[in-house]
Amino acid sequence: MTKESALDTARAQLRRAVEQLHLTENDWQTLSTPRRVLEVAVPLRRDNGKIEVYNGFRVQYSTTRGPAKGGIRYHPSVDMDETIALAMLMTWKCALTNLPYGGAKGGINVDSNSLSESENERLTRRYTSEILPIIGPERDIPAPDVGTDERNMAWIMDTYSVQAGYAVPGVVTGKPIVLGGSLGRASATGDGVAISTREALRIKGIPIAGATVAIQGFGKVGYWAAIAVEKMGMKVVAVSDVTGGITGFENVSQVWDHFRKEGNINVPGCDHLSNDELLHLEVDVLIPAALSDAITSHSANDIKAKIVVEGANAPTTPEGDAILNDKGILVVPDILANSGGVVVSYFEWVQDKQKFFWDLLEVKENLSTIMMKAIKEVEEVSNREKVTWRESAHIIGVGRVAQAHKLRGLYP
Ligand code: NAD
Repeated sequence: MTKESALDTARAQLRRAVEQLHLTENDWQTLSTPRRVLEVAVPLRRDNGKIEVYNGFRVQYSTTRGPAKGGIRYHPSVDMDETIALAMLMTWKCALTNLPYGGAKGGINVDSNSLSESENERLTRRYTSEILPIIGPERDIPAPDVGTDERNMAWIMDTYSVQAGYAVPGVVTGKPIVLGGSLGRASATGDGVAISTREALRIKGIPIAGATVAIQGFGKVGYWAAIAVEKMGMKVVAVSDVTGGITGFENVSQVWDHFRKEGNINVPGCDHLSNDELLHLEVDVLIPAALSDAITSHSANDIKAKIVVEGANAPTTPEGDAILNDKGILVVPDILANSGGVVVSYFEWVQDKQKFFWDLLEVKENLSTIMMKAIKEVEEVSNREKVTWRESAHIIGVGRVAQAHKLRGLYP
């Protein structure tokens, strides 16, 4: 059996939206082709003097509705196909939330855990200099993703600014606050996942207080989602990272405190479980917040959650998705559920442009307004067209990009 790739998944979702929107073959041609793809060699001098060369990518899938926008991933599995798939998803996500952006993604096929701090900095600066001609506040604005964080964004901002001759904070989002980052950006994706979870529970008629939640992935998305759903009154019963999961902890802070001290989530006294067992727990909500293809034709059958909220990008294959739908599980799709990150990235970019910074309350209120509007639209289209939430989200996002293509026309 061939492995279902993230690109196969993204193209199948787009094909379905094109059919449901009754778009033409010409539309499919333009919508299914990335606008610009760049592959670069990224040589790194290791601390021991050895030189290794990695492959770096930047894909600007669309610039039709505004500058390209999307994260930078450091992970051994990064390749061109995955980067194109994730850039495509960013395009529909930005359109769904009505942000004035296209979509992009980038990355390096490197294990970020294998890098010392100075190696990470050298690799990031070299990658930045290789993609420098195509990024910029009006062209393409990177952000953190798997394996990168605000330190990487600070190095990218500095490398770009040194070339420009003045500080250009708007070239990246997800920066440290003192460099022009936004309050509330670090928690934004998790906050948005929590808002999506709360609304999905409401629609399913499940009380929010005490609703049980299992979360796969305890990184920038999973951790903040755990904190936010707990604050709303839900009970996080299990979390996991790449090494496996745990259950039986008192609260999320207990796991976080241990993680900060020990660098792992193996809280003493807690029961261990595998990532597979976590996916199949009897809970109200399952939040995949790690990598692509977690829920497949193999793993979907035994999922017992009533709701799946996709914190990760492309965590469910089309076959896995069909099984979840047959089981009557409400799936809040990635381009809606994890859009809080790019929404607050947009706020950060706006604040950098205006050189006027908002307080945390303003960021959180504006995030909630945009997310609630998108959730309501997805719910309405889903009810009206009798389609799944994923199909509905794609109909809205792809539809807006197709409309923008038509209105701009084809040059020349
Ligand atoms: P991260 O690197 O901060 O965390 C990833 C987490 O997943 C870690 O806890 C890691 O141990 C765990 N993990 C890795 N492989 C795993 C496996 N095989 N099984 C279980 N856990 C595994 O990354 P992140 O920024 O939290 O991103 C997670 C997902 O969310 C990605 O799909 C990313 O594209 C998506 N996303 C991130 C953001 C953002 O703002 N960071 C926004 C939208 C979507």
